[in-house]
Amino acid sequence: MTKHIFVTGGVVSSLGKGITAASLAMLLKHRGYRVAMQKLDPYINVDPGTMSPYQHGEVYVTDDGAETDLDLGHYERFAGVVCSQASNYTTGRIYSNVITREREGGYLGGTVQVIPHITDEIKKAVASLDSPDNDITITEIGGTAGDIESLPFLEAIRQFYHGAGANNSLFIHLTLVPYIKAAGEMKTKPSQQSVGILRNIGIVPDILICRTEKPMQDEHFAKLALFCNVNKEFVIEERDVENSIYEVPIELARQEVDLKILNQLHLEPRELDITDWENMVARIINHEKSVVTIAVVGKYISLRDAYKSIYEALDHAGINNDSKINILMIEAEELEAAEGCELISKADGILVPGGFGDRGIPGKLKAIKYARENNIPFLGICLGMQCAVIEFARNVLGCEDANSTEFDENSAYPVIDLMHSQKNVTNKGGTMRLGAYPCALSPDTNAAEAYDNASDISERHRHRFEFNNDYREAIEGKGLKIVGTSPDGKLVEMVELTGHPWFVACQFHPEFKSRPLKPHPLFNNFIKAALKK
Ligand code: GLN
Repeated sequence: MTKHIFVTGGVVSSLGKGITAASLAMLLKHRGYRVAMQKLDPYINVDPGTMSPYQHGEVYVTDDGAETDLDLGHYERFAGVVCSQASNYTTGRIYSNVITREREGGYLGGTVQVIPHITDEIKKAVASLDSPDNDITITEIGGTAGDIESLPFLEAIRQFYHGAGANNSLFIHLTLVPYIKAAGEMKTKPSQQSVGILRNIGIVPDILICRTEKPMQDEHFAKLALFCNVNKEFVIEERDVENSIYEVPIELARQEVDLKILNQLHLEPRELDITDWENMVARIINHEKSVVTIAVVGKYISLRDAYKSIYEALDHAGINNDSKINILMIEAEELEAAEGCELISKADGILVPGGFGDRGIPGKLKAIKYARENNIPFLGICLGMQCAVIEFARNVLGCEDANSTEFDENSAYPVIDLMHSQKNVTNKGGTMRLGAYPCALSPDTNAAEAYDNASDISERHRHRFEFNNDYREAIEGKGLKIVGTSPDGKLVEMVELTGHPWFVACQFHPEFKSRPLKPHPLFNNFIKAALKK
């Protein structure tokens, strides 16, 4: 039988619910349990695919092609949990299911209401990961206790808990215990009030995890226990970590949260061995041996979350190469406006990430030209690969007008063009080429070498445009080789520049599959090349 853990948040947003939930999953998995994870998001978009990264951070893509919240990236990175379409439900998706059923006459003349129809649909989503292969599902509820939008979700998990029973389900509330400088004190009142809001709607947290800047004293634990109605041993401190988010599970394990959860859920404790994880964190802390500077030239640079998985993947490769990654976040438009390339001249490697729309394209092309001409290791991802092809066509083939039809429908040299399958697509939601597809690699290339000379790989995608095959011969003829394609050879998945130390670009998004204990091969070899520079 699958047991359920629900994680809610209080006081303020951005407390790191996703990292906390993922850390718990990592610990439970290291104790030998099979864990699934999901996030319930209160906004009305059916998925975050249509949202600007400025609104929502990066869109994380699963193997099965779901466009999801970036917290799912934490779930996969920390816990190696495989996420899917069932791992992210929004208010929009829940309502859309209910309304579709209503139009089909599925409610047999009934009046369709938030309770019970919307809450039943939410409960169905929570139960959708139940299976004999899954011991525990961790469900994170987006938003903050007290938000109007999260109410139906909170009511649904209250009902779910009521039905499943206290031995089979558990509420964790993540809260903030702020330090007030003027008073020189830590304050528990916001947490008391936040738990009060939950109690009002019938949810009594079993475990309180407190985000703090400073160490909590015994009096804080006692006060929180008494006023939040939680056993004192179930009040957990989650203090800001010093070096890396990957320290969080170690800190939670020190306080045996995982053990307390298992006791509460009547599951046997089993042994915990996180030596691999501790060794990885030790490598982060001690890796001051070398520093490698990577310029990431993008268009959503001011928001760190917009390129979350890219930055994480760079860090993973850094850990594996015992180097600290110094990321230069370069706004493409600033590079475009600058006279020379001073902004990226300190870079040991240049990365151009994915994106949509024409803002910042000239800056990205300028960075790629600089990398190509100065033998700087380069990794282009999705739009980054498309830009590498455009730059090459313009500056090496001499086709000044070369472009993607995403930016210029009338380009005389449309080296990047809309995929055939996308030609009549009008609906913008979930209609791109999404998720895992196979790619065949050419031998004796930097691309294949990164993957240990594998001939077939699988990577995740999110794009509408592709390399225009009409230009293959001309582009390859001048040295930008196609080194990865779909198995039928028709769709270009990877290109690589000959005569350059390491210039590789891919149509897919390798960053989504990088893990702290298993860096992605392309990021790993990109960093290796940058270290050699
Ligand atoms: N805008 C490009 C496309 O749709 C690239 C997408 C991306 O970088 N994810 O093909």
